[in-house]
Parts: sequence; structure tokens; C-alpha cells
Amino acid sequence: MARSDPGGWETSVRTLDTERPDVPAYSTFAAELRERVRGDVQFDEYTQVLYATDGSIYQARPAGVVLPRTVGDVQATVELASEYEVPILPRGTGSSLAGQAVGPGCVVIDFTKYMDDLLSVDPDAKRATVQPGIVQDHLDSALAEHGLKFAPDPASSNRATVGGGIGNNSTGAHSVRYGITDAYTEQLRVVLSNGELIHTREVVLDSPEYEEIVAGESKEAEIYRTVRRLVEENRSEIDEKYPSLKRSVSGYNLQKVIYENDEGEEVINLSKLFVGAEGTLGVIVEATVSLVTKPEETALALYCFETLLDALEAVPEALEFPVSAVELMDDEVFRLASESEGYAEYAEPIPDGAAAALMLEWDDELVAGDGDQRAAFEAAIGETNAHFVEDGDAFDVLEAYSDEAQEDLWKLRKAAIPLLMSLEGDPKPYPFIEDATVPPGELAEYVGKFEDVLTDHDTSAAYFAHAGSGTLHIRPILNLKDGEDIEKLHSITDDVTDLVLEHHGAFSGEHGDGRARTEFNPEMYGEDLWTAFKELKTAFDPEWLLHPGNVVYRSGPDDPGPDNDRGVGADNRENLRYGAGYQSIEPTTDLDFDDEGGFSQLVELCNGCGTCRQTDSDVMCPTYRASKEEIQTTRGRANMLRAAISGDLPYEEIHSERFQTEVLDLCVGCKGCKSDCPTGVDLAKLKAEVKHEHHREHGSSLRAKLFGNIDRFAALGSKLAPLSNVAPKLPGARLLMEKTVGIARDRALPTFRRQSLEEWFEARGGSHVPAPQADAKVVLFPDTFTNYSYLEPGKAAVEVLEAANVRVEIPGDLAPSGRAAFSLGFLDSAEEHAQRNVDVLAPRVDDGWSVVFVEPSDAVMFQDEYLDLLDGEAVEKVSAAAYGVMEYLDGLAVEESISFEANERLSYHGHCNQKATNKDHHAVGVLRRAGYAVDPLDSTCCGMAGSFGYEAEHYDISKAIGELLFEQVEASEADTVTAPGASCRSQLGDRDGEKKPPHPIEKLAEAVESTP
Ligand SMILES: Cc1cc2nc3c(=O)[nH]c(=O)nc-3n(C[C@H](O)[C@H](O)[C@H](O)COP(=O)(O)OP(=O)(O)OC[C@H]3O[C@@H](n4cnc5c(N)ncnc54)[C@H](O)[C@@H]3O)c2cc1C
Ligand code: SF4
Ligand code: SF4
Repeated sequence: MARSDPGGWETSVRTLDTERPDVPAYSTFAAELRERVRGDVQFDEYTQVLYATDGSIYQARPAGVVLPRTVGDVQATVELASEYEVPILPRGTGSSLAGQAVGPGCVVIDFTKYMDDLLSVDPDAKRATVQPGIVQDHLDSALAEHGLKFAPDPASSNRATVGGGIGNNSTGAHSVRYGITDAYTEQLRVVLSNGELIHTREVVLDSPEYEEIVAGESKEAEIYRTVRRLVEENRSEIDEKYPSLKRSVSGYNLQKVIYENDEGEEVINLSKLFVGAEGTLGVIVEATVSLVTKPEETALALYCFETLLDALEAVPEALEFPVSAVELMDDEVFRLASESEGYAEYAEPIPDGAAAALMLEWDDELVAGDGDQRAAFEAAIGETNAHFVEDGDAFDVLEAYSDEAQEDLWKLRKAAIPLLMSLEGDPKPYPFIEDATVPPGELAEYVGKFEDVLTDHDTSAAYFAHAGSGTLHIRPILNLKDGEDIEKLHSITDDVTDLVLEHHGAFSGEHGDGRARTEFNPEMYGEDLWTAFKELKTAFDPEWLLHPGNVVYRSGPDDPGPDNDRGVGADNRENLRYGAGYQSIEPTTDLDFDDEGGFSQLVELCNGCGTCRQTDSDVMCPTYRASKEEIQTTRGRANMLRAAISGDLPYEEIHSERFQTEVLDLCVGCKGCKSDCPTGVDLAKLKAEVKHEHHREHGSSLRAKLFGNIDRFAALGSKLAPLSNVAPKLPGARLLMEKTVGIARDRALPTFRRQSLEEWFEARGGSHVPAPQADAKVVLFPDTFTNYSYLEPGKAAVEVLEAANVRVEIPGDLAPSGRAAFSLGFLDSAEEHAQRNVDVLAPRVDDGWSVVFVEPSDAVMFQDEYLDLLDGEAVEKVSAAAYGVMEYLDGLAVEESISFEANERLSYHGHCNQKATNKDHHAVGVLRRAGYAVDPLDSTCCGMAGSFGYEAEHYDISKAIGELLFEQVEASEADTVTAPGASCRSQLGDRDGEKKPPHPIEKLAEAVESTP
């Protein structure tokens, strides 16, 4: 038997050494696995909860998880699982929408942590070999230097893996041009159900190579023989039953496994059969995929129609033009987008009266430019304009040639799912027949009848998606906590299956069978092929241990398969994430969760889409980026909280040491998820609320109290400076601090200044701009760090504001913002501070003053969290008058009143709290207008996150997150990095041989030349 162990160890940060006791039912299996597997073996209850869901409506606890490092690990896992009769579920990111990444009682083999490498690229042959856990976008980034890409482009490609794409036979918006994953999967290495490793590739039928394979008694030989026999015996059924579509991903790929190759030889390639098998035939450990050249330029045109029917009828005509994508959106998508803060700008250009729009894309390979690509695109679009607008039913067209304009249209198109899924309340547009596909020419008639199905079930849906290939993402709105709606889930699937088959389509053209559709495969394929599927499955996996009940199932003991009830029956109402018995506790909260519909609704907004596992842009989720652990994603935390409020774990578990340290304390509270999660799961807010309850019921540590009251200690430190700065430098002092209070000994501590910012301001005689002459009035908020430790940004703010003829005051009666207390869950104290500040500032705001902050986290505290802590007009007023200093200066258009002289290149690391509240762009704008060349880094949180980076047990992960930022800073061509956050500057200042970088306001002050 072949066995491989290529090594390839990768490091990632370990989280914490907390107890992870195995679930007793699996402890012997887990112990034996640990002896044989080099990767991670996790069979504890938390792991079961974390891997119980994917992006679908389903939920079922697995037995445990193995994160293999080597092919040998996978083989050992499969062998042992077979010995212990534990089912097996290979998994990538778990972003599947039909439930095929959920497996009750399975051992999950998660490839994303260690087996995610690009092994080789052959640019000439346009081929790459990868491990299954590689994220599709990461593969594409590596291929970019060769001008190549992996063609299938699911919308989830920023976190979805190639292994998962092969498992599902994924595809995306460009399937019109490129087809689907099976066309690009050339060779695989697969671990079979008995642990045997095989290499699948094109083998010419009856060639010596073929004869050698089938001559033996191995499992591989048996599989080849069975597959060939089943295909030959069922030829006519295969021709009849598999729909003639660009995309059809239900059932097994029997129609593609034997074919004529480019040389005209009849070949068998088992790789094609593993594509779309959803982990039910074997575990893929390596894949060789073919690649395509990447077009350099594209253009888009959006055709607007007065009715959905007109748009659908135009689809087959659109396909007659040389287009690379034909996408559809309806007016429900436009309406939701225009009502949403985040997407309104993208919906703005859509003309009134557009009931639906078709978006067509061209690329420079399909429309060659001969030196003037823009002209070529314009000519191509001119032709479609003549067809659809002048001579057709479209009443308007929006053309997009620049990258930005095209991105905006794609953003609108891709907004549909997040917008729909963030609907408040229990009824949600759920995926279960959301990728049914019919020939594009039948779309119009099919949609008409689909609407009748929805009406019969008293529900509605929005229409969008890949119209060019006949796929429409229709998600009926149901309440899956309600028994009646659960029945509708089943009967709608049933009716739509009939409808799709009547129109020669497939009920899955993109997302696979999973738990939602497997039940309906017999209807689609008929008895003969259905029996062939069961025989095929049994040949690959005699005991039906590989992901049983998926793609294929047994009707009863007489069916082909093992003599047990594994894989018997399928019902798309089973193993639901919610279900009729679902109930959740709605805790009494201190924070206001009205906007989110309540604490539990906010938790339940997580639909498992896995966007929080993307690592290439935005902020969410820094801890996952450093650790690659599911528990450290926003999804992981939301799933753990949902388990606790819904009784899957006892509610008291929330207050256990383990839950606090592993689930909550490792969330740095950056707020990245508030804006980056498509449905807005705001974990920082949830964490603050739960921490608050925890302190109330179980008390808090000395360190938490210290950091929660850091303002008082900083004030004392300033009074006692310089003595207070010497004490930590005494021999043994840092070790003692680590041992007693838990402050990391290697983290540089802030030093205190004897003269605070408030004292400096008073000493200089207050404002230098007399009130009567001032153009504006500003209270400069003396945040703890700027006031006592690093005054320069505060002084710079005064300088620039005064240069702009703004009167500045720093009143002595303000409380700290409450940010530190809030982050650590001391909500009473945060509320007290908030109330005091609102009381002091409301009259000033009435009098025309604005409140300006140097420290972004304090600005956002006023702008955002104060509204959760307090009610009433006063807080709303003060919150609306609060600005980060760069935001304020941007609004003031300072470049009109101040002359700047600057010619340095800066890189800019924004603060995650400001990114989450869409306030981060101002600094870059102001610095650029002052003359700086600015390279804004697409960086996540710096890893310090207030007190997090000082905490001994979090020091390693804080540094690991910081490293991600350091790499970006080093990659930038800028001379100096600048960052508004005090914590970020501390982290950046802790780099070897580097100084603490400046705040952008300091760079702005440096550039002030004169006031005209
Ligand atoms: C918002 C959103 C948008 C989406 N858009 C698209 C889209 O445009 N097109 C599309 O096709 N899909 C789409 N999907 C579905 C899904 O993201 C894709 O199918 C994706 O390719 C799955 O990748 P994954 O790594 O998450 O796989 P997983 O969900 O982890 O696994 C998918 C299947 O593959 C199997 N599998 C995983 N690894 C292996 C392996 N090593 N060996 C054998 N089997 C394996 C699993 O058992 C499972 O059955 C979308 C999902 C979401 C949430
Ligand atoms: S937290 Fe948000 S991004 Fe992450 S899986 Fe849940 S819904 Fe998706
Ligand atoms: S607040 Fe930040 S660290 Fe916490 S879950 Fe959200 S993105 Fe992750």
C-alpha cells in the first residue's frame, strides 16, 4: 500500500494550554489517533460545537476533528476510523450551503491549517499541484506572476479551498466562459476508505497501463472495474438523465468519468468522479489542476428592464455575444441596497423603474483590442446596446470601463446575499433550492412557474445570480424555528425539483447536494442510475463510512451497501440548525440591543458563510489570521455563544474558565466583524455584555481591574514620574509583574510624563485663538494615553486646529471615555463615564462646540458605544458632535485655510475601530491633500487592542498578529509608517530597531507651513 509523508510543517500560534478533555464516547479512538497522527487531534465538546455547522441551514455534532499535517496522518485517520466504525468527513473552510460540510458523529479531517500549500506550478503546461486546504484566492495570488489563474471562481473564493471546490464541483460568475471545476481537475491523490493512497489521472482504456491497474486485487483495481462496468451498462440512461447544462452538480459525475481525450483516445479519469462527490468516495490529499490565462482588462454593461420577464427573455440573446459573464439582479436587491448604509452608493446609479437588470462582462481575450482596448470594448458594447436598448426591451444601460466603476457594479451584484441574510427577525431567506438551474432559454417560463410555487407556499424571494448559465439564486423566506415552515422547506424543494426536471434542468447548478438535496437525487436520475450510484458508492466505500447520507443514500437494508443503518434514508428536514424545538435564552442586557433585535438575534445572525476566515483584506478576524483555528473566528465565537443560549451547552458554561479564556478573552474586541461580517455579527459588543455579566456574578481579576481603571493608574503614574518609570526597570520587577498581575514581561510598558497634556495646555495659556475671531470651537478630549504618556499628538492637534483658526479647549472636568472599562466588560463604570461626559459636553454641543479626539478608540466610543450605553437626546447630540481629529479636519477642508509643505512617502495603518465605523478614510485624504504620498495599508488589527497585547497569556498571539502588520509595513515603499492608534504605535514601536511611529496629526503639524 502506498504511503506518503512529505512533511511540510507549518507553524501557527498556539492559543492557550487549557484543558480540552475528550468526549468520553471517543476518548479511546482519540487517544489512538494521537499516537499515530502528527497533526492536531481534538475530540472535546467545544470542537464538536465548532464543527457542527457550515454555511447551510444544518447542524450536527461531529465526533471530533483531526487537522492533519501529512498524507500519512490522513491515512492513519481513515484506517483508525474504519477500525472504530466512525464516519469520516473531509472538510475545507466549511462554507458549503447545502449541508455537505456537516456530518453527525463523523471525524472531520480539516485541511485548512496545515495542508494548504501550493506544491508546484508549471506555467508552460498551465498546471498547478496543490494541497486540498489551499484557499482559492491564495492560489490565484501565487499564479498572478505567471499571468494565470484557476478558472472556477465561486463568490466565496477568498476563504473557500480548492479541496472544497473539488468536493462541490464549484463554479462562479464566469462559468459562461470557463465551465466548472471538473473541467480543470486533471489528477488527484486520494486516500480511499481502507487507507490506500491512489493516484487518479487519464488512463487510456485497455492500454497496458489500464490492464496493469485492473489486474490486481487492490481496492483501486476493483473501483476501476466497477466504474467502467456501471458506465457501460448505463450508457443510454446517462445520455438521457444528465441535463445538458453548463452547470449541473447533483449526483455522481458518471457522465464525465469516461471520455475521449484530445488525442481521440477513450480514457477513464477517476479524478472527474471525485469532483462533486462531496467527500463520499475518498479523501483528496493532493490535486493537479489546469489553469487559464488571466485576462488583463474587462468592461461591463448593465442593461435595465421594466420587468423581470423582459430581462430573463434577453438572457439567451446575451449569450450570442462574446461575453464572459451574464448576471441578473432584481428590484428587491436594488431596494435593499438603496436602504442600506453600506451599499446605497452602489445602487444610486440604477435608474428608477428598473425591475431587473442584466450585467454583461467582456474581457480582452474575447474582444481583442489591437492596441486600443477601450475602443474595442466600446465597439462591443455598442453592438449590445443596439440590440438590447435600441432594438430590444432594455430601457437604459450603464457602462463601466474603469476598475472602480466595475468593482462598484460587482459589489452591488454580490450585495444580494448579505443584504438578504441580515433581515431582522426569525424569517430569513434560506438556501435550499437556491441554485436550481435550467437551460437559459427556459428561464423566463421557469421563473413564472417558480413564482407560483412561492405563492402556493405563501412566501416570497429575491432573484439574482448567474442567469447566463441558467442558475438563479432564489431563497424563499421561511422561519425554520416553526414547524409549518419546516414542512414548507420540504414541499417547496419537492415542487421545485418537479419544476426543474420539467424544464430539463438540475436542482443544483452550483452548491451541491448536501443534506438539502440528496433526498431528491432518485427523482432526478431515475431508478437505474440511482442503483448505479449506490453500487458505485459501495465499491469505493463498502462500509459507507465516508460522509454517509450525502449524495446517495440507501432506502433500506436490501439496497447495495453495508449491513447496518449507516447512510439509510435522507430527509432534508433532519439535522436542522434551528428546527421546531429550537429555543434560545434572551439574557437581560445592560447594553441596548434593540437595533439588532436582541442579544440572541445578533448571535443568530451568523449564518456560517465563513467570510471571517478570509485573510487578505479588511480587519476581520485578526485572531484567526494568526492562529488558523476555528475557535478564533467570529463564526466560532458566535457558534459557541449560540450553543450556550440555545441549550446545546448549559448556559452556565459561558461563565466557565474555559469559555471565558478560549472563546471570549481571545477576541481582541477590534470591532472588525461589525463592518466586515456580511450580516454584521458584532462580537465585540456581545463580548462586552457577557464579560459584564461574568464580572457581576464571578468577580474579576486584579489585572482586569487595573486595566479597566487604567486612567487612574496613569494619572498616578504621571504624578509620581519619573519614579514611576524607574520601578518597572528594577531587576526582577517585570518577572514579578508577570507572575502576580499577568502583565507580559517582554512587552514594553508606556512611560508616564510628569506634565500632562491638560497641564501643558494650561501652562501655554489655553487657546491662542480668541473666541470672537474663531471660525469653529473644539473640545479636545484628553484621552488617557495622550494625556499622560505621549503628549505629542495632542500638541500637534492643537497646533493644526489653531492654524485653521479653530478655538481649542481642554476642559478639566471630563471623565475618561470609558473605552478601557467597556472593552473589559465593566459596563457600569463605562456607563458612569459616558454619563458624566455627556452631562459636561451636551451644553457645549448646544453652544456649537465639537468634540475632537486624537485617539480613534475613544472617538468611536463616543460615536458608537455611547449609544448602546445611554438613551436620550443628550447622548445622541454629543455622539453626533464627536470626531476623530483627522475626520474633523477633513470636514473642515483644512488645506483651504493652511499652507502645507510635505513631500515624504507615508504608509498608513488605520485603526480597526475607525475602520469598523467607516471613519478611517479621512486621514489618508487629509494627508494627501497636504502633499504626502500615502500608501494606505489594507491591514487588520495591530494585535495590541488596548490591554490585550500586555496580557502575558496573549503576548504570543498579539505579536503574531503584529507580524502580519510588520510584513505589510516592510512591503510598502513608504519612508515612514504612521498610525493614529496609541496601541498600534506601541506595537509598531516594539519592532526590532524601530522607533514608535508618529500619529498622522503629527505629520500634518510637521507639514504646516503658514496660514494665509
Ligand atoms: C456567501 C457564499 C457564496 C457562495 N458562492 C458560491 C459560488 O459562487 N459558487 C459555488 O460553487 N459555491 C459557492 N458557495 C458555496 C461554497 O463556498 C463553495 O462551494 C466552496 O467551493 C466550498 O469550499 P470549502 O472550502 O468551504 O468547502 P467545504 O464546505 O469545507 O467542503 C465542501 C465539500 O467538499 C468536501 N471536501 C472538502 N475537502 C475535501 C477533500 N480534501 N477531499 C474530499 N472531499 C473534500 C467536503 O466533504 C464537502 O462535502 C458559496 C457559499 C457562500 C457562503
Ligand atoms: S460571523 Fe459573519 S462572516 Fe463569520 S461566518 Fe458568521 S455570518 Fe459569516
Ligand atoms: S471583534 Fe475582532 S477579534 Fe473579535 S471576533 Fe470580531 S473581528 Fe474577531
